[in-house]
This record gives sequence, C-alpha cells and structure tokens, in this order.
Amino acid sequence: ERAEAISRWQGPGHTADGHPVAVLANVADGVSAHAAASAPVEGVGLFRTELAFLDRTSAPTVAEQTALYRDVLDAFDGQKVVIRTLDAGSDKPLAFAPGDTEANPALGVRGIRMATPYPELLDDQLDAIAAAAAATDTTPWVMAPMIATAAEARTFAAAVRSRGLIPGVMIEVPAAALLAEAVMAEVDFVSLGTNDLTQYTMAADRMSPALAALTDPWQPAVLSLIATVGSAGTRTGTPVGVCGEAAADPLLAPVLVGLGVTSLSCAPAAAAAVGSALSTLTLQTCRDAARAACATSDPAAARAAAEAVIHPH
Ligand code: PEP
Ligand code: MG
Repeated sequence: ERAEAISRWQGPGHTADGHPVAVLANVADGVSAHAAASAPVEGVGLFRTELAFLDRTSAPTVAEQTALYRDVLDAFDGQKVVIRTLDAGSDKPLAFAPGDTEANPALGVRGIRMATPYPELLDDQLDAIAAAAAATDTTPWVMAPMIATAAEARTFAAAVRSRGLIPGVMIEVPAAALLAEAVMAEVDFVSLGTNDLTQYTMAADRMSPALAALTDPWQPAVLSLIATVGSAGTRTGTPVGVCGEAAADPLLAPVLVGLGVTSLSCAPAAAAAVGSALSTLTLQTCRDAARAACATSDPAAARAAAEAVIHPH
C-alpha cells in the first residue's frame, strides 16, 4: 500500500495539513539535471558543480561553465535551482586546483577555503553563473560549501549579490551550526550538508566503513545541531534546506521538518518516497517525532522514537 502511494506521489511537497516543504533534486551535471526533471521534484536543491569537472586537468573557462550552468537552468526553467560553488579538495580533489600535501585534508584547504589560494576560480564561476542566469528566466540561488564563520559568509554573499544572484551558504561545519543566527544575518538562505556535518560533529571520517555507526545522521548530537539551525531559521525567517543523505530517508525527513527545515534535496530516485511520507503527516506530528528523537542518546533509540510517533501501533 505504501509502495503504491509512493508511485502515485507527484508533488509539490507538503505535510498532510498543507505546510509546504519543497522536495528538490541533487544533480551533478546537465545530463543528471535533465533526467531529474522527470522526477517529482520542484527544482534543484544541490548542484555539485565540482563533479562536472573531476576529469579536467585545466580550469574550465567562463564560456564552458556558462554553457553547463545554462543547461542545468534550462532543465528547470523558472524553478528553484541552488548551485553550489566548487567544493574541491579532500574527497573531491580537482587537478586544476591542487593543494599542498596536508596531514588532514578533510580539515584542510577545501570548499570555500580554496578561494584564498585560487580567487580567480571563484570569480570565474560566479561570472559564469551570472551569465547563465542572464540568458534564462531563472535567478539561481548560489551557495558556498564549508563555511565556518559569519565573516566567510559575509565575504561570499557580497561577491554573489554584486552579480545580482541570491547568496546562501551550506551549514556543514559545527561552528556554523552553533552560530547559525549570525551566519543567517549575512545570507538569504542556508542548506544543511548533513554528510559533512555528521562527519565533523562525530569526528568520524565519512569514508570510513569502520566508523559507519558514528557517521549516522540519526546521532542525537547531529539532530541537536540541526535543531539549533532550524530554530534560528524560524526566528529569522531564513529558509533552511537539507541536501545531505539525511534528506533521502523517509523516516528522517519528517523529523527534519519538525526541527524547522523548509526544503529537502535528495537523489531524484528518493524524492517520491520522501514526499509521500511527508504528505501523510501533520506538521505537529513531525514536531512530535523530532522532539521524541531528540530526547534519546543513541541513533537506534532516535529511530525507534520517531517510528513510534510516525507509525503508531
Ligand atoms: C554534505 O556534506 O552533506 C553535502 C551535501 O555535500 P557533499 O556530500 O557533496 O560534501
Ligand atoms: Mg559536504
């Protein structure tokens, strides 16, 4: 019965009592964006631009980048599209932006931190996004990865606003989550990267199978940080998305909404299950599930507590 409801679900995303929660797609390039456009999604919540350039040995030109961004914007004409600036380094090294050898690359020069050694990479990318936006009907939202401080958010937002684009940041470093309100004062939206937020909160490498029990977004410590960000978003009226794997879990998605998350971005194949699950629950049930999960101290108990609220018998 649940499988049938999922296959029928079309969107747009909302709770049973009509509270809107946009269900969006994670994409990597033009091909995946056009494929995502036939899924039941309302736009793109995360375009991982670095994935389009992993095989490049020289930096893509502004013209090449403009063509790529146009292709993705065209796939979602007039809809919400969130473009993330290059998240290079650590697990996603780009050959044209090499860093120094570092003992701890995940804690090193990666994401927005690459804009210090390579300022022209960020400038060219923002110029290309602005050119693509000018050629379409869509004003993309543009966010930076690995923001740790409000000052970093301010600098990035100024560069984005000066090109007529909408600035935001990912919240995937615990420092940015703890001071979410100060970060939100600088930008128009935030998006929680729960993969890295979990890695950094638990001090556990997201690539390590041996640490999989720690790198679990149901860890109550991670839920607590998400709650901090969700509350800050509600207080300040700032949209709070989730674009990590957590958004693809149909049991966790309602908990995230209950914590104050306003949009969910996931692999297109997961969208219907997430949207369908939300459509059966009121916002109050999502809040009750969130409160129950947050009152636990381990991930299995958090899952069980949410399950007991969401599927009671
Ligand atoms: C995340 O960290 O949750 C995220 C969405 O970004 P990535 O997986 O590309 O690091
Ligand atoms: Mg990340």
